[in-house]
Amino acid sequence: MTEHHFPLSQERLAALRRLFHQHPETGMAEFWTTARLAEELEAFGLSPVAGDAVTAPEARMGVPSPEVMRDALQRAEAEGASRAWLERMNGTTGLVVDLRPDLPLGTVLRFDIDAVSVQESASPEHRPTKEGFASLHDGLCHACGHDGHMAVGLGLAAALAPLRAELKHNVRLLFQPGEEGCRGARAMTSAGWLNRARHFLAAHIGMWADQDHALVCGARGFLATTKFDVEFRGRAAHAGAEPEKGANSLLAAASAALNMHALPRHGQGDSRITVGMLEAGSGRNIIPDHARMVCETRGATTAVNNYMFEHCRAIIEHTAAMYEQACSVRLMGGSDSADSDDSLRRVVREAARAVPWFHEELIRDSAPGFGSDDACVHMAAVQKQGGDAAYFMLGSRLAAGHHAPDFDFNEDVLSPSVELLTRVTLALDRA
Ligand SMILES: [Zn+2]
Ligand SMILES: [Zn+2]
Repeated sequence: MTEHHFPLSQERLAALRRLFHQHPETGMAEFWTTARLAEELEAFGLSPVAGDAVTAPEARMGVPSPEVMRDALQRAEAEGASRAWLERMNGTTGLVVDLRPDLPLGTVLRFDIDAVSVQESASPEHRPTKEGFASLHDGLCHACGHDGHMAVGLGLAAALAPLRAELKHNVRLLFQPGEEGCRGARAMTSAGWLNRARHFLAAHIGMWADQDHALVCGARGFLATTKFDVEFRGRAAHAGAEPEKGANSLLAAASAALNMHALPRHGQGDSRITVGMLEAGSGRNIIPDHARMVCETRGATTAVNNYMFEHCRAIIEHTAAMYEQACSVRLMGGSDSADSDDSLRRVVREAARAVPWFHEELIRDSAPGFGSDDACVHMAAVQKQGGDAAYFMLGSRLAAGHHAPDFDFNEDVLSPSVELLTRVTLALDRA
């Protein structure tokens, strides 16, 4: 078969993107989004899996507080999410769809579904505002393009569904919660969804393909990262009368923050450490009895990142001993480092030749990764078991950078992206 049929038109893809754009949800609490995706997938005759099986409970990181989860669930219901699907979700988000569960697993594709904690621009120049599809949720916005990724994922599902009988391998689509902060991927990989996969693909709109008609076939050099929250618990005391009876949590946190930033760096690649937030104490004349820090490390390789994180943990524990504190280090997210494989870059480049949107002179084999993306957890898992992986960047001009309040992309990239993904998936299936 060389002529492909794409059931979802460009207009329908843009309408779906706009619908998701209006209903942004924070990572791991994407209830409305998951229910809506499930309904669309069902309409193509597919049977998405929802609920506890989607993410391994012990590997879920950075799940919002029970209050935030409850509010998100109630809002999803109020906004018309399918009750049947909300029940099947049983408090957890994300979906997995197998095109041919009866066949050995071939290609797995990841689509991220969460929004960013950003207040969307109200400027009349901002297209979602101007054209009436801006975020309905204060403080949340699809400012990373994941609304577009979901539309593309649905477009791909619609294109592959009628071809199921022709597939030689199972094709699996992951609609992954909690990409922001690198929280959801490890929970899906730990649940076994990448086991025995031969190929893995992820794609992002924009990034280093930030002009129309551009394409990066396989990004490299994503940083491994660990996100963690630290708590110190000390002893309060009167700061004037008997400070010697206190155990100062503020000083413990401040000392730990300085020592973490002063770590000697690893010789095998770049690294980062950031204490992005520190709060402590309760008043001027009280020895502070609690402190909290929000931190992250990054590394050019998973080993470099692990070195940074383990040494931070040692500093925190030893500082706690020095200042007579109880302390805890809670993992909130994390990703491995990963590079795309040349084998897949070639397949992507070849497939792009058949899609007129992508212009030969704007197609690049490679570009550096964009900070960290937890698709790398999936990539590393598949590469470790002998498969290959690619992360590509779909060219669109951007109204502003990713995560900015006035971020927007050119919706014309949606239909060509569906076509490219379909062609790559079918090429891999037949190889
Ligand atoms: Zn993002
Ligand atoms: Zn993103």
